[in-house]
Formats: sequence, C-alpha cells, structure tokens
Amino acid sequence: MLGLMQSQPMLISSLIEFAARHHSDAEIVSRRVEGDIHRYTYREAAQRARQVANALDALALGFGDRVATLAWNGYRHFELYYGVSGSGRVLHTINPRLHPDQIAWIANHAEDQVLCFDLSFLPLVQAVHARCSTVKHYIALCAADKLPADSGIPNLRSYESWIGSQSGDYDWPSFDENTASSMCYTSGTTGNPKAALYSHRSSTLHAYAAALPDVMALSARDAILPVVPMFHVNAWGIPYSAALTGAKLVFPGPALDGKSVYELIEAEQVTYAAGVPTVWQMLLTHMKPQGLQFSSLRRTVIGGSACPPAMIQAFNDDYGVEVLHAWGMTEMSPLGTLCTLKNKHDSLSADEKMKIRLKQGRAIYGIDMKIVDSAGKSLPWDGKTYGDLLVKGPWVIRDYYKGDGDPLQGGWFPTGDVATIDADGYMQITDRSKDVIKSGGEWISSIDIENIAVAHPCVLMAACIGMAHPKWDERPVIAVVKKPGMEVTREQLLAFYEGKTAKWQIPDDVVFVDVIPLGATGKMLKTRLREMLKDYQLPA
Ligand code: ADP
Repeated sequence: MLGLMQSQPMLISSLIEFAARHHSDAEIVSRRVEGDIHRYTYREAAQRARQVANALDALALGFGDRVATLAWNGYRHFELYYGVSGSGRVLHTINPRLHPDQIAWIANHAEDQVLCFDLSFLPLVQAVHARCSTVKHYIALCAADKLPADSGIPNLRSYESWIGSQSGDYDWPSFDENTASSMCYTSGTTGNPKAALYSHRSSTLHAYAAALPDVMALSARDAILPVVPMFHVNAWGIPYSAALTGAKLVFPGPALDGKSVYELIEAEQVTYAAGVPTVWQMLLTHMKPQGLQFSSLRRTVIGGSACPPAMIQAFNDDYGVEVLHAWGMTEMSPLGTLCTLKNKHDSLSADEKMKIRLKQGRAIYGIDMKIVDSAGKSLPWDGKTYGDLLVKGPWVIRDYYKGDGDPLQGGWFPTGDVATIDADGYMQITDRSKDVIKSGGEWISSIDIENIAVAHPCVLMAACIGMAHPKWDERPVIAVVKKPGMEVTREQLLAFYEGKTAKWQIPDDVVFVDVIPLGATGKMLKTRLREMLKDYQLPA
C-alpha cells in the first residue's frame, strides 16, 4: 500500500521560489569584481534567475546541457546556480585555480556549451577558449559597457545584455528529482580530475541536512558569509541552504585577504562564516596585531582540511566565536560530519569539551560511515582503532561522470581518509591515506604533527611529510613557514614537541621554507612539497 501524500519532486527551483516568497526582502550582498558593493533581495535574485532560464531557452540549450562558470562568490553566480539548474540544465562550476590545461580538459570532458566567467578570468578564458571545442557561447559576468573590446573570444557577450532583454516570468519545469543539477571536478592531485554529478534530490536533501541545528544551524536570523568558493562543491551547499532558511547572504567576491574579509564581516554584521583553515589564518593574522574584535560574528564552520586546535582555540578564547569543525569531500556534496556536542557533554570541563570539538565530528543524518581494515573488515568504534573511512548516503556519489569503473566497495564509497570513530560516533581524521607516515611498522598522523607545530607562536604554517629512512621506512620531517618578523630555531621547535606527543613521533628535522604550496582548493599540496624537498637528506 502506498502512502497518500503528494509526491512532489525535490527541485532546486523550489528553493529560490521559497526564498522569494517567504524572505522576499532578505538581502544578498556581494563585493563585486568591479570593487564596489552590490545589494539586492531574494525577490530580485529569483527574478533574475528566471531571466537566466529564459536566456538559456533563447540559446536553444537542451535539457541536461552543461553551462560552465569560472566565477567568484557573487550574486550573478548565485543567479546562474538557480537559472541553470532550475531550468533543467547542469551547472558546471570550474575551479579557476586549476592549471589552464586542466580547465580545457575539464570543459571538453564535461562538453560544456556555455561558459560564463568573471572578468578577472578573462586572460584565462583567452588562453583556453581555442581548446574548448564544445563551448558555443561565452558570457562575461558584467554590464554591456564593461565588455572588453577585441578580446579574441568568439560569441562573447555581457551577462547583463544577455539576460537584460529577457522576461522575469518563467514557469520552472517539473521533472524527475534524480535529474543532474550541477557538477564539480575534484582537484585531481593524482591523475586527471574526476567529476561528481549532483542531482536535484541530492542537493536539496543536502541543503535540508546542512540547515539542521546540529549541523550548520542556519536560520533566517543569520547573515552568512560563504568564503568557501562557489566554484568548488557548491560552496558547501550554502547557496541552497541559505535560500531554504532565508538567511541573509554575504558574498566576498575575489577579495579573500584578511583585511577585506574582516571589513565585510563588520560592515554587513555577518553572524556566521564558512571557510577553509588557510583563509581564516589570513583573517586572524590581520586581526591579531591590531587588536581587532568581531562585533557580530558568532559561529564559523571550518573544514576542507584539518582545523588546527590552535585556530579553534584562538577563535573561541580570543574572539568569542564558536568553531564548528566539519569534514566532507567533493564526492559527498560535501558535508559528512560536523562537530557539535551532545546534551551529556554539558557538565564537562572546558578542556574536555575542547577535546571533543577538535574532532571532525558526528555523522549527519543521511550519512552512514564505517572504518575498515585492509581486508575490508569493520573496525571497532573505540576512538583508538584507525582504519579506512567508508561512507554512503543519498548525497554521496554512486559513480563519477563518465567514470571508468565502479568506485564503490560493496555499496560504500572509500574516502581515501584514515580515521578513528569513538563510542559516541565522533570521527577523527588521522590522515589522508597517502599522507600517513609509516615509521617502524607504526603510523604517525601528519595532522597531529602539524597541529603541534602551528600551536607554536612563531609558526604560520606547517606541513609534515614522511622521508624515506633506511631503518624505520619513513621518518617525519616538518616544513615550516615562520610568521613574518618572528624567529624560532630548529632546536626550539623540536623541543616544543617534548611532552606533546610520543617521543618516536617527534619529527627528525625541521625545514624552514618561504611558502608551503597550496592546491586549487587551498589545501597544502604535499606532492609539490615532496618535489621541493627531493634533494633533502635526513640528518644522520
Ligand atoms: P579535492 O579538492 O581534492 O577533491 P575535496 O575538497 O573533496 O578535495 O576534499 C576532500 C578531502 O579533504 C577529504 O577526503 C579529507 O582528506 C580532507 N578534509 C576535508 N575536511 C577535513 C577536515 N575537517 N579535517 C581533515 N581533513 C579534511
């Protein structure tokens, strides 16, 4: 017997229409590539998203055709999120920080038909367009009078003239909720990038889950600043979950330096922000020397790579901002776990609470996870035993777009991460499986070793890698970037490890470097660091 409830497909268009109807005057504020601040409301955003849909119809773009973007976080990108997916096309957000060869490869692989780009990426588009054989239309996200003359890009027009002549009325089509809505390629640190292809159903369910009180707890009372880019994993789904809750949205555009982000938070009275640790490092580095404080920011979600305890503590103790540590990946839309405490933790001391909050967190309803040994056998949830982390759920990929074989293991997606899970279900990432340091048959977590280094007051960034060792297989070496104007010696830093970790886990050496290479999503690129240190010799 079937239930007698209405069967309505969960479609992305419903989110923007909901926001337009119930939060019509809630603001969307954007720092533009042009440098100024633009502000309007969900009502206007929805109208322009409908204009986008009409403009795509006018190009005779088919159902399921891919529309690519190379764009920062801003209102026009937001309109494309809804206009493209809502009308049944697939939004392909391209990460502009990838190598141009990879961008051309991705655009061809996805068979993009339209490419919309912020003017900051004009040189990039000029460099790759001749190789993007499927792209028929180029749209510069600007007004007609800002359109560059003689760009050399064929069929180029401005976004404002493209949508400007279109009606703001549009009947969003209804279709199967499993229809593809958007796609995002992994950064491809090994081999060619692979694409996660999200659906209306997966994105809407993910948006619901993200808004839950023990997840991101988004509400109409929030002003949220996604510093996480809309060009990678849909800015953690915030453009969807903000519309679902009616939260004010604040988009930082291209200005991600500490000063610009701080000023935007203060000017727009942002209550909630989301980003990767490297961005928050820039913000704190800007604020600390000037003794700046936040007047509105209450919470921030930090994920994408391990958030160092020193950062969680600084936000908490120095600025009164609660950090929610989150874990996920492109293949998971991306949210998997988020770290919030349980009722039974109320009576714990501040130190004990902090110990829990440093973990990557508990599974969100919808995500199932397990840790397994090399034979695929499930391991106990005791907070000590570590194993390969596997996940499944309605917003986890089943396959890659044009994938070359089933990526799942018995229905579970192998994350490539190594983790522990404790009896309360709190998961802690030990490492990326390829970054774990294997020393004398034991594993050393590079994340643990890095967290200790960045707790030192003179250290700005630290990356730990394993170096081949004749006796122990591998030994940890820590590459360190010092804070500007600060001094610390190798010996002082190694002494700083005493008592903080087992003796055999203390790095064999410290290498001071000017920069640690970062990948396209702001994560430390250990492959490149290993290349940089290829002639390095461990001390005898
Ligand atoms: P890519 O850009 O390489 O596709 P993703 O953005 O999908 O990467 O990142 C996924 C990976 O990032 C995870 O598998 C994990 O290794 C790492 N990661 C994400 N969040 C955290 C976190 N909070 N702590 C530690 N590692 C994290």
